[in-house]
Amino acid sequence: MNTSSPITKSDFLRYLECPAYFWFFKKKPEVLENIKLSDFQKELIKNGQEVELWARKLFSHGILVESRESEAIKETKKYLEAEEKVIFQATFETENLYAMVDILQWDDSNKYWIINEVKGTSSKDKKDKKHLYDATFQYILLKKAGYDVGQVNLIELDKEFRKKGDIKARKLLKTTDITETAKELEEEINLMIDDMKRILQNKREPLPCECIYKSRSNHCPAFKYLHPDVPDYSVHDIIRIGSSLKRLEGLIEGGHIPIGEVPEDFKLTDPQRNHVNVEQSKNPIIDTIEIKKQLTELVYPLYFLDYETYPTAVPIYDGCRPYQQVPFQYSLHILDKPNGKLTHHEYIHTDTESHPMIALADSLMKVMGDNGSIIVWNKKFEGKCHEDLADLLPQHAEIFHGYNQRIFDLMEIFSQQHYLHHEFKGSFSIKAVLPVLIPELSYKDLNVRDGAMAMNGWKSMMFEMTEQKEKEQMENDLLRYCELDTLAMVKILEVLQNL
Ligand code: SF4
Repeated sequence: MNTSSPITKSDFLRYLECPAYFWFFKKKPEVLENIKLSDFQKELIKNGQEVELWARKLFSHGILVESRESEAIKETKKYLEAEEKVIFQATFETENLYAMVDILQWDDSNKYWIINEVKGTSSKDKKDKKHLYDATFQYILLKKAGYDVGQVNLIELDKEFRKKGDIKARKLLKTTDITETAKELEEEINLMIDDMKRILQNKREPLPCECIYKSRSNHCPAFKYLHPDVPDYSVHDIIRIGSSLKRLEGLIEGGHIPIGEVPEDFKLTDPQRNHVNVEQSKNPIIDTIEIKKQLTELVYPLYFLDYETYPTAVPIYDGCRPYQQVPFQYSLHILDKPNGKLTHHEYIHTDTESHPMIALADSLMKVMGDNGSIIVWNKKFEGKCHEDLADLLPQHAEIFHGYNQRIFDLMEIFSQQHYLHHEFKGSFSIKAVLPVLIPELSYKDLNVRDGAMAMNGWKSMMFEMTEQKEKEQMENDLLRYCELDTLAMVKILEVLQNL
């Protein structure tokens, strides 16, 4: 049991999420589940680190604290004594609080310190509350340590930035003075700091845990330990139950925790009732009339299209914005007529020198005909890719806007519950639907099995791998994954057409 480790910025953010979670993290971390970072979260951290490197370029002379923990505090002290004016990752500990300031800057004319907090997010008019609290935590800590802090800045990616040639840090980033907000929050956060210290004195586990009344996505890694009787799939997973908390409360109070135990007369929305009914009866809902009606909209030839994309905080390619999804690969199955011939086309960008979107667009326009429905799974995603392609290539804008006119979202048959199966477990992702409708087609045997793996795989292939053989293997793995996405749509449509 850890009783003395100082309260860090991350601990403070955990406390903001839930004081009880903060206690478990500090005092009983062994009971927490699933705290390993996902590939997606690791990528977000890397993006944040990259933005920090860019932010350092805004300062002409800075010295980096390279060590960590107690050594970092000593190193910072050394640089402060040497009257360094800009210190990257300056680290402080006082009154059992610990924080690393991304960029600490001495303002010689005003004779005070400036805290610059760097975030890998893009600038918005309304600042993320967490960022403001995080920066104010550092402001308080430095004041407690006896430093005169006159200004607090938030440095973020400028959401209006669009890459054109070499990137300039001052164009990529936007600095906002948040000193007044930090001052306004100071009293509130000081009270929170006192509360965190009080919580850490508690030897007993904090009670009660209110998340029994919240939907699954709100539960922290302590939930399973605190509620061992709640199954992994329960009323907390009923579709959109997070927007019907009164109903969830009613179910919990009535002791109806497994979905199978929801009473027949318990009031739910129609989609929620459908979800519960298929779960209880194990009989799927298949609205053949509505499905057939929707399928009459299809115009042959059918184009089953799927993109894989790669977003980065700092754009790599000209014309792109921070975090823009850059399509680097597509798979396209074409069915010329009912029960006709199925052909397959694909593209993956492997050249590190050229723009993936330009090459992908060239390839796609050669095989995509002028007529016929374009079938996708989640038109918001593919539709946005077309908008971005139109934006980047105005000479072809009409073509890509035209693609969006022809889009047919196969997912909607499932998201609108015209086809609902208990084995979907409330999801309408293609990965949930495919194994139920076509069990012989599976993602399980592939080396790349989801979008996050595809994103990371492409990045490794393009920018990290050095062995040709390894690159070829990854290219093949990515092609097989994207191909299965469109083949899955072909087969799912066949099942629907044969109802
Ligand atoms: S499950 Fe919810 S209430 Fe319980 S400790 Fe975690 S975040 Fe807090």
